[in-house]
Amino acid sequence: MTVPADSRVVEDLPLREGIIAVALAMNGAGINRGKSGNVSARVCRAGVDGFLVTPSGVPYAETSTQDIVEVTHDGDVRGARTPSSEWRFHRDIYQARPDVEAIVHTHAPFATTLACLHRGIPSFHYMVAVAGGVDIRCAPYATFGTQALSDHAVAALQDRLACLLANHGMIAVGRSLERAFALAVEVETLAEMYWRSLQIGEPVLLSAAEMDRVLAKFATYGQPDQR
Ligand SMILES: [Zn+2]
Repeated sequence: MTVPADSRVVEDLPLREGIIAVALAMNGAGINRGKSGNVSARVCRAGVDGFLVTPSGVPYAETSTQDIVEVTHDGDVRGARTPSSEWRFHRDIYQARPDVEAIVHTHAPFATTLACLHRGIPSFHYMVAVAGGVDIRCAPYATFGTQALSDHAVAALQDRLACLLANHGMIAVGRSLERAFALAVEVETLAEMYWRSLQIGEPVLLSAAEMDRVLAKFATYGQPDQR
């Protein structure tokens, strides 16, 4: 028997397909392994003020558009699946940050290695400014899925587009799924370079004044275009 397609699924089809594409791409790019990460996109249309997020416990290769779960800002869940266990920080980031349209969360190996040392990424390379500031912070540890973790993540993301999560992973946000994904790849690249630098010495950090110049150039030239 053919089940009639849910009107919401049809209406949000491109967004649902985009979420699945990014979820698959982050594993393909080596910034996530297995089912550990999650991806979401804000949805705002008549009667809905919330977001779409990957489901809990479904391998990305087996995830269909109907498996993507809708969560409202009130925490109401609409869909056949259970949303990612990290839906709280997705909800709270969207509520705190009107500039954010998409969120990518991964357990990228190098970013997570630094996060396990409770180390953020300082201004060791000018491209750190791609995340919006002079550094990429590491949020304090809290149990996955908790309000405490969400509160820490929102705080670490203040004036930033990415943060690490202690003993856990990283979050990258952006104005689109593509931008959030590209930033997650960039953060993992920076984490790897910082990690490699630490193997042979103490990296020389760029001054706050120099990072301010870089941030101004990014803002002026729109390169890289993350905002
Ligand atoms: Zn996680």
